Amino acid sequence: MDQLPHLVTHLYSAIPSLRLPSPLIPFTPNWDGATRVEMLVKRDDAIHPIISGNKWRKLKYALRNLPLCTQSIVSFGGGHSNHLHALGFVCRQLSTPFHAIVRGNYLGNETPMLKDLALWGSHIHYVDKKTYQQRHSKDYLAQLARTYPKSVIIPEGGSQADALKGIGEMVEEVAVPFDRIMVPVASGATLAGIALALDSTKQALGIAVLKGEGYLESLVTQFIPSSLNHWQIDHRFHCGGYAKQSAALATFCDAFNQQMPFCIEPVYSGKVFFALKQLLAAKAFHEGERIVIVHTGGLQGARRA
Ligand SMILES: *Cc1c(COP(=O)(O)O)cnc(C)c1O
Repeated sequence: MDQLPHLVTHLYSAIPSLRLPSPLIPFTPNWDGATRVEMLVKRDDAIHPIISGNKWRKLKYALRNLPLCTQSIVSFGGGHSNHLHALGFVCRQLSTPFHAIVRGNYLGNETPMLKDLALWGSHIHYVDKKTYQQRHSKDYLAQLARTYPKSVIIPEGGSQADALKGIGEMVEEVAVPFDRIMVPVASGATLAGIALALDSTKQALGIAVLKGEGYLESLVTQFIPSSLNHWQIDHRFHCGGYAKQSAALATFCDAFNQQMPFCIEPVYSGKVFFALKQLLAAKAFHEGERIVIVHTGGLQGARRA
């Protein structure tokens, strides 16, 4: 008997309220240069209140393809990780034990994300920086596999080959013609999935959310053929590094959240819209271009309490 349909049904009945396809809405800020182009926001942040944005896209196939004998899921992230948050919630819904390997020790000082994980019954394991650095190492992963028998180990951020297919579906959902698609870049899997799904007449523009000129490009190319060249990464808007923010970015996000019909946060989407505003003012796009900006979600990471 084919086991897959059973699992698929199980996944969707465990998470019944997914909003797919995600909305595509016009974006018309009164910013300098904004009327030269046409902008649409792909609201992946609206897919689900908890399994936000690109994390649903990235996890979908990994979760659909879970072997029936899976006894637990293991993954990695920081104390604010959108990925651990999404996966922790899904595991609770699937009644599958979840081991979250968290960088740093937040004992007694738990972030809102970690409090949610605890509430959902996740097993939280704090590891030091040195141990966390081994998260891709074969030996370390083999050791985890022995510690958690019959577990499925998902890489940090859900960034693995089958994440690209889920991301590609986001591109396919955009039912109107467009010229360019913008997205934040951290592990590069989202940009890679977009580039792979995008026909080569269109351009994908990644906004680096961390310092990684050259490095981020290499992360993207590990997932896709080097012959694909209709993508690039702009490294000018990381504002000091991952989860770092400048006063200008903070002010921008606050004003945006008061004026616009949807919210952003400073780690990912804030940097993309901040970049967009400056690129528009600098007339960096062709006159009349249609640009799709992907809102990858992740608002939970900005919670203070
Ligand atoms: C994880 C995440 C990203 C980064 O995606 P990558 O595939 O790692 O580049 C972007 N936006 C949000 C909201 C995220 O949670």
